[in-house]
Amino acid sequence: MSSEVRFCDRCMRRTRHDIVVEPEMATYKRRRLYRCSICGKESWKRGLRPSSEISY
Ligand SMILES: [Zn+2]
Repeated sequence: MSSEVRFCDRCMRRTRHDIVVEPEMATYKRRRLYRCSICGKESWKRGLRPSSEISY
């Protein structure tokens, strides 16, 4: 299981998150389910790349 350091809304700081669900196909809205390793809060976040920040 891979992990990334993301901002946790509950811990109010950057913590290590495990990536629970990662889509295999690269959809145009790439979302992953992260789970905070500190408090266990799960949240869907977009990938780190801000390349597709265009609002449709
Ligand atoms: Zn947390």
